[in-house]
Amino acid sequence: MDTNLFKQKLETELATVERELKSVGVQNPHNPADWEATERQMDVMSAMADPNEAADKQEEYVENRAIVDSLEVRYNNIKRALKKIEDGTYGVCEVSNHPVEEDRLEANPAARTCKEHMGDEKNLPT
Ligand SMILES: [Zn+2]
Repeated sequence: MDTNLFKQKLETELATVERELKSVGVQNPHNPADWEATERQMDVMSAMADPNEAADKQEEYVENRAIVDSLEVRYNNIKRALKKIEDGTYGVCEVSNHPVEEDRLEANPAARTCKEHMGDEKNLPT
């Protein structure tokens, strides 16, 4: 398997995901795997003056948090995949230790499982 090709894809995707994360959140300085949604603070006086705007801000924060959560998973999966390339364990299913199908990796270079165990991926430890 040509891991260099996957490495390039992963690095490109990592840059994209990182840019998206930075637009809605901030990286935890103590834990690079953890991202927090940016909270747009609004002072109490203007929140009282304009409750609609305050509600919008709250909604925006809730949306940002959902985006951050899903991007964070992708971000950490890409990081993990890149680490596996370094360690020489890339393309091995984390559930069965069988090789991950190449077309699965092409569709999702950060995949942690073979096709058979796709449904178990969300249960794997982060
Ligand atoms: Zn498997």
